[in-house]
Amino acid sequence: MAYDDQNIFARILRGELPAIKVYEDEQVLAFMDIMPQADGHTLVIPKTPAITLLDLPPDAAAYTIQVVQKVANAMKKGLDVPGIVLMQLSGESAGQTVPHVHFHLIPSSVHELGKHAAQMGDQEKIKVFAERIKAAL
Ligand code: AMP
Repeated sequence: MAYDDQNIFARILRGELPAIKVYEDEQVLAFMDIMPQADGHTLVIPKTPAITLLDLPPDAAAYTIQVVQKVANAMKKGLDVPGIVLMQLSGESAGQTVPHVHFHLIPSSVHELGKHAAQMGDQEKIKVFAERIKAAL
């Protein structure tokens, strides 16, 4: 399957769609999930165009996971959460809905997580969590 450069995250990376960003550098972007499964739900994506983790060059994967760790630490500190679920879905069969590789950081427990959230979160509330994460980075 070819990478679709019109997918939502590719458009966010090009600045064509808005995002509540918490971290960005030349290789990686971290931003708030628009339909959070828990307060503070954050996504980390490499800028490299890749559909799944399996398509991502190892160097980009290695760097992205370093940023995942950095953002997770900021979430723990800034949001004062006891545990964070790291989720990565590779392939539609696994439940992946956006065809650009992404890592979910969800301040929750695997015992609490159910199906995907199906509705938009309160964007103002999400911004408050984003500010707390940014302040802890
Ligand atoms: P997945 O099912 O693993 O592909 O997860 C895709 C995630 O992207 C879901 O949690 C959605 O809520 C989230 N999402 C979809 N569109 C946007 C958007 N425009 N900004 C932020 N998060 C989004």
